[in-house]
Amino acid sequence: MKIDVLTLFPEMLNALNSSLTGKAREKGLYELNCHDIREYSLDKHKKCDDAPFGGGAGMVMMPQPIHDCIAAVDPDHTAKRIFMSPRGKVLNQQIVKELSRESHLLFLCGHYEGVDQRVLDMDIDMEISIGDYILSGGEIPAMVVIDSVLRYVPDVLGNSESTVDESFSQPLLEYPQYTRPQEFCGMSVPDVLVSGDHAKIDKWRRERALEITRNIRPDLLEDK
Ligand code: SAH
Repeated sequence: MKIDVLTLFPEMLNALNSSLTGKAREKGLYELNCHDIREYSLDKHKKCDDAPFGGGAGMVMMPQPIHDCIAAVDPDHTAKRIFMSPRGKVLNQQIVKELSRESHLLFLCGHYEGVDQRVLDMDIDMEISIGDYILSGGEIPAMVVIDSVLRYVPDVLGNSESTVDESFSQPLLEYPQYTRPQEFCGMSVPDVLVSGDHAKIDKWRRERALEITRNIRPDLLEDK
């Protein structure tokens, strides 16, 4: 999978170089290119934002640098072009799975008050929000999408089973997990998990998952 990120703050994306996404990048399991929108500004001071027409607080990202950056990065429009925006479809595991089937993703990260509407109308395929709250920029939201999508890219996860069992891959939240030591601060691991009886363990996990979902997110059960 090829991923392009268009941003005024490319260094923010360095966070993806750690942990799972970092290892996967080193192994060449995906390609990530960050593009500094400012480099495409035709203004002599490399200005990329200006005051909103009609007045109001803050600055708006100008269309020219973004339009030219997108044209340079994705000239044949092979990418699914995504604008990170609180106005977008709210991200969920279904959208993550759909995006993981794409071979090329392009993320446009907004900043300040947002982006001139004309470049969105002209160049963007979809808008995604990571939730009903406002962040200062689209970089962290883009990384949220990239991290969740990469987990479905073959070989990125060490154990290919891991996405099957997880919360949201099924309509249930995950059961509680335990590891060594068996006794910790006077609390022991549930007996069933050390019983070696896999049918019993599966049943226990299903029951716990159901109970947790019923308590915390009953809406997930109502959908089904
Ligand atoms: N004035 C805008 C908010 C701008 S926040 C409004 O009221 O809708 C600046 C940028 O941060 C946005 O352009 C977007 O790219 C990003 N952003 C902020 N919150 C986000 C969220 N919940 N999901 C995705 N992107 C978000």
